[in-house]
Amino acid sequence: GEALAVSARVAPLGSRLVLLLVEDLTEARRIEAVRRDFVANVSHELKTPVGALSLLSEAVMDASDDPEAVERFAGRMQIEATRLTNLVQELIDLSRVQNDDPLEDAEPVPVRELVAEAVDRCRHQAGTKEITMAAAGAADLRVWGNRGQLAAALGNLVENAVNYSPARTRVGIAVRSVAQPGGDLIEIAVTDQGIGISDKDKERIFERFYRVDPARSRATGGTGLGLAIVKHVAASHGGEVTVWSAEGQGSTFTLRLPEARAARGRRASERDDS
Ligand code: ADP
Repeated sequence: GEALAVSARVAPLGSRLVLLLVEDLTEARRIEAVRRDFVANVSHELKTPVGALSLLSEAVMDASDDPEAVERFAGRMQIEATRLTNLVQELIDLSRVQNDDPLEDAEPVPVRELVAEAVDRCRHQAGTKEITMAAAGAADLRVWGNRGQLAAALGNLVENAVNYSPARTRVGIAVRSVAQPGGDLIEIAVTDQGIGISDKDKERIFERFYRVDPARSRATGGTGLGLAIVKHVAASHGGEVTVWSAEGQGSTFTLRLPEARAARGRRASERDDS
């Protein structure tokens, strides 16, 4: 009787363990597949500019008696080299945001400085397209987090807004504080009047290397890693990034992050509880 009762208790437990094990294996396999895809993507993305550089250097050598052709090829070599530099830099950024704990050296970061830095980063590109950039909202708010990572995240959103917009449009950055029971959030919304994103693509643009139009993205120096970095930074700060968009009308990317004062307040109260 005793043994039967025990095995009756163990059997369901056993099958649950098997189920957990199977789920674990499926998850492990999925992670492995994602890793393999990533490595394949990186190799492909690296090979393209390197291959182009190699062909172009041959072309330069063959055209040594034609200075105009040499200049043209050299110009294209510069573009490919820039592309390679961007890609390597974004890969480093991505690996950093994936591996470092951003809250290890978290500090209150003034939103005004993040916005100014992001606008500065795009000033040249916006200027050549006559795009107006305007920031509005509570200027004295502070986000709780890693300054470098937050700057990279907002910089990517503003850069995309400029890249995927036609000439003589407007890019707006709106900042506000949103009261939340668990601590206030700061909302930074980047709005453009650009090409927009279809519903189908909206689900995928945050994936590494996913681009709606690979040729257009490459032409503007895009790597397909920017939004993956933004999403990672938002999540690791306890925030999120969301997108609203209408094709042909424009997009708004909204970054929600914990406000500095609230985050510290929460920590203090946690200490009081223990
Ligand atoms: P990329 O380096 O190609 O810009 P991202 O990861 O930053 O890579 O963005 C992924 C894709 O999402 C882009 O290739 C583009 O198709 C789309 N996208 C991003 N931001 C915008 C935007 N503001 N308007 C329209 N499309 C966008």
